[in-house]
Parts: sequence; structure tokens; C-alpha cells
Amino acid sequence: MKIKTDVVVVGSGAGGATVAKELSKKGRKVILLERGMPPKDLGSIRDAVLSHYDKCALRTSKEGTIVYRTLMVGGTTVVSCGNGVRTLEKVFRDKGIDLSREFESAEKDLNVQKLSNKLIGSGSRLIMDSSNKLGYEMGPMPKFINPDKCTSCGVCVLGCKTGAKWSSLFFVAEARKHGTRLITGANVKSVAIHKKKAVGVVAETTDGRLKIFADTVVLAAGGISSPVILQRSGIKNAGTHFFSDLFTVTYGIMKDENINLWKEPSMACLSTKFQQSDGFIMAPYIDVPLVARWVLSKRKQLKAFRYKDLLGIMVKIKDDETGVVNSNETFSKKPTARDNDKLHKGATVSREILLKAGVRDGDIIFTGTRSAHPGGTAAIGRVVDNNLETEIKNLYVCDASVLPESPGAPPIVTIVALAKRLAKSLEKTR
Ligand SMILES: Cc1cc2nc3c(=O)[nH]c(=O)nc-3n(C[C@H](O)[C@H](O)[C@H](O)COP(=O)(O)OP(=O)(O)OC[C@H]3O[C@@H](n4cnc5c(N)ncnc54)[C@H](O)[C@@H]3O)c2cc1C
Repeated sequence: MKIKTDVVVVGSGAGGATVAKELSKKGRKVILLERGMPPKDLGSIRDAVLSHYDKCALRTSKEGTIVYRTLMVGGTTVVSCGNGVRTLEKVFRDKGIDLSREFESAEKDLNVQKLSNKLIGSGSRLIMDSSNKLGYEMGPMPKFINPDKCTSCGVCVLGCKTGAKWSSLFFVAEARKHGTRLITGANVKSVAIHKKKAVGVVAETTDGRLKIFADTVVLAAGGISSPVILQRSGIKNAGTHFFSDLFTVTYGIMKDENINLWKEPSMACLSTKFQQSDGFIMAPYIDVPLVARWVLSKRKQLKAFRYKDLLGIMVKIKDDETGVVNSNETFSKKPTARDNDKLHKGATVSREILLKAGVRDGDIIFTGTRSAHPGGTAAIGRVVDNNLETEIKNLYVCDASVLPESPGAPPIVTIVALAKRLAKSLEKTR
């Protein structure tokens, strides 16, 4: 089948849904192609694992590092923890990209505000107070979570069933209201190019091959898939400099009836005390039960743990951009010695906080390294220019791939801001 439109956007996550919404509001004819399907039951572990997360949340690099992402309408924003922080602001400014207005606009759209006091539960509060006693400056996390709708179910990473948390699903709905045509189950394989200009994309669907012809092509398939499409379309330098914001969780067991970390919004508080000096941030965190049992079960000493006795702190680092995504969608990502130093320092500080909170030394364990923010694979200044355009005219990239370095912090607000900027510049050049 062949269809003609003004703009084709590939991927309906943070970058793609924003571009589609902004452009369709301006009257552009937009087709939004999404490889996944609309979400099934949000908040259910069964659907999250079987239908939403890529490879049942066990997608790893060749070296075994887990990288989480979801393939579905709304992209990975659907399973986010709702953290809404600005990242890389100075890095962009140094490149001549001023995102201040777009950040403001993104924060307004997503209604970012510090997590309401009433939602900071006993477990998060204990971690926050203990951090502060040690001088580690932990406070409420800026969130795109509506406090009036949040029920503290504790499973943000399975999708929000009450609609309290913003996700791209809201932007997709708005885009459709303004005329965007959403086509799901469309796995884009390559960009159609004529005389060095992008003229559309080619996708595979269950009904066969789909060709969309468009004046403008925006790839927003995420940090792993956009470079694959670029490589298949002849842009050979896409896929390198892959980062993923590696993280570990330090757990402590504390038998205290008042602790309820598992029934609190994920990552309710944030410490950026060590962000500049040591390249990591910290936040209270507990894996969903299935994952917690899986990551902890190897530890003999914790065989008898009860889920509700767990206190956990996530350490997320700004990792080195040394990974590579290949054209067959496999990738290589291994923590470097520097990454391991950062993770180790973060785990040491987390242990100190847990001890301060009252956990016994023998009841602390550290999980392995995982990650959840793939990007950098079509970075500004390397694969795209400051307007996010590639060497192929009319072909743009707008997702975590274009981030020039690892943010080491939640990137959604930054990606939404970049997408708003792209939509504005596409309007100007119309
Ligand atoms: C568990 C978890 C919690 C997180 N929490 C936070 C948080 O609290 N705050 C924050 O800022 N960030 C968070 N993140 C990270 C954040 O969700 C991602 O960094 C962000 O969504 C990336 O946006 P994107 O547009 O690059 O990709 P995505 O949002 O992943 O969107 C890419 C889209 O493209 C589609 N796609 C892929 N390939 C193709 C193809 N070939 N054809 C068509 N469509 C395709 C995908 O299905 C997907 O819909 C979290 C991530 C995870 C995994």
C-alpha cells in the first residue's frame, strides 16, 4: 500500500508523539507510524512483560547488560517513573541551542511539579531523612504525576492505570484529535531516498509492505531503533557512541512495620549532591516483586526476605558513550572502568545511607548493572546538525539518539523540549 502525506513521524514515544502533536496542531498532515500496539492492561505485570517491554524486559547487550525499553504506542514514556528534570541544558547552550523556552513549555504541558508531600511515604522519607543527616541533600523529585489521581500503587514502571502520570499517550491522543493518522504495527525498515532527499519511509506490517511518501521524515524510534533505520538508509556513522545511563540498586532489609517503600511512587526523592563531582544521582527505588526476586534470589543471605521489608536506593550514572548499535538491532554495551568506579562510589554512599536508616551491615546487598535510557547514537554534531537534520535532506531524527552525551538523569523533558524546537523550526521553513 502507498500513502502520501506532509510529514511522516516514526515512533510515538517522547520525541515522536511531541512532534506529531505540535505539527498537527499547526494544520500539517501527519502520519504517525508505530511498530507496537496500543497498551493492554496498564499496571499489570503480565501485560508489561509479555506485551510491552522489549524481549520481556530481558533485552541485553552482547555483553549481558540489560537495557529496558518498551515497544508500544506511547513508547517508553508509558513505563517511566514520572521523573521530570531538565538535563544537558548547558551542553546544548554551548552548542548554540537555547532550549529555555521549550523546557518551560514542556514542563507546562507535562505539569511538572515537585512530588507532593502527601505522596512521599515512610520508606522514601526514611531514606531522604537519613541522606540529609549525612549532608547528601535529598529532596522531593520533580514529577509529571498528578497528585490528586496518584494512588501510590508503587508500579509506575508497569504503566499508570489511573492516568495520574503523564505519558506520550496523552500527546498521541491530542495529535489524533488534530488529524494525525496513527498506524500501529508498522515496523519501519528504511527511509526512501531520491536524489539525496528523503521522500518517505518503507515499513513492514502484518498486511505486507507499506510505503509512506512525505515531504518531511522524522525518525523518533528511540536510541536503539533510529540508528538501525539510519544505517539501513545509508547513514553509516549512526549507531556509535551509545550510552544508556547505567544503574544499580542497593538494597537493605529492615524489619519495621512502618516501612512501605513498595507502595510509594517510584523514585519519590532525588539527590544530585554527587552529580557534578562524581557523575551519579540517587533516588529511593524498589524493583517490582518479580524482578526483585530475580535480582536478589542469588544472594543466599537474603533467601528469607519479605518484599515489604526492603529499602532500596538507585544509583544512576552518566556513563561513557562507548556502546555500538548494529544494523540488525543487536548492540554492544559494557560498563567501562570509569563507569564501574562511579557505580561503586554510588553504592558505597547508598550503603552509608541505609546504615544510617537503621539497616544492619549484613543485610545490605547490591544488584547487578542495568540501564533504561538508551541514546547518543545519532548525536547532534555527529549524525545530525543543530536542527536535527541528517546529511540526507528532509530527514530528521528526534529522540534520545540525538543527545550529544549521556544525561545521567531522566531525559523525557529534554526530549520533549527538543521535539518542540524541531516542530517550530519545521514550521518556519514551510
Ligand atoms: C522503566 C523505565 C523508567 C523510566 N523512567 C523515566 C522517568 O521517570 N523520567 C524520564 O525522563 N525518563 C524515564 N525513562 C526513560 C524514558 O522513558 C526514555 O528515555 C524516553 O522515553 C526515550 O524517548 P524516545 O522518544 O527516544 O523513545 P521511546 O519513548 O522509547 O519511543 C520510541 C518509539 O518508537 C517505536 N519504534 C521503535 N522502532 C520502530 C520502528 N522500526 N518503526 C516504528 N516504530 C518504532 C517504539 O515502539 C516506541 O514507541 C525510563 C525508562 C524506563 C525503561
